[in-house]
Amino acid sequence: MLYSFTVATNAGQELCDISRRVQGLVAASGISRGLCFILVPHTTAGITINENADPDVGRDILAHLERMVPQDGDYRHREGNSPAHIKASLMGSQQVVPIDGGRLALGTWQGIYLCEFDGPRRRTVTVKLLPDAS
Ligand code: ZN
Repeated sequence: MLYSFTVATNAGQELCDISRRVQGLVAASGISRGLCFILVPHTTAGITINENADPDVGRDILAHLERMVPQDGDYRHREGNSPAHIKASLMGSQQVVPIDGGRLALGTWQGIYLCEFDGPRRRTVTVKLLPDAS
């Protein structure tokens, strides 16, 4: 089963928790055990799994990426958004999460985040749910 949904980001750079939306697709699918593939089909946004309890973690991730990939670096890309492309590659564009008992088998403090690096925009998230063969 292949699904997609959109996320309207609100800032130039932002981590958007999409865990509930992905979990909602898993629950609606009726799949008890399997795999959930999540793709962000964009070149200036990424996806990561990290702490969802303390919002300062997300703030610190974005701040550190900003220090690693400064806006005024020596970039050639004419569109002028090379930092967003580089940060998207650092985060990656997909994640895989096991499904167990009809739920995403995430850790207690884990959330799935769409990482916006060139917003605000409307972003697409593609989700493939693959039930166990048995
Ligand atoms: Zn570009």
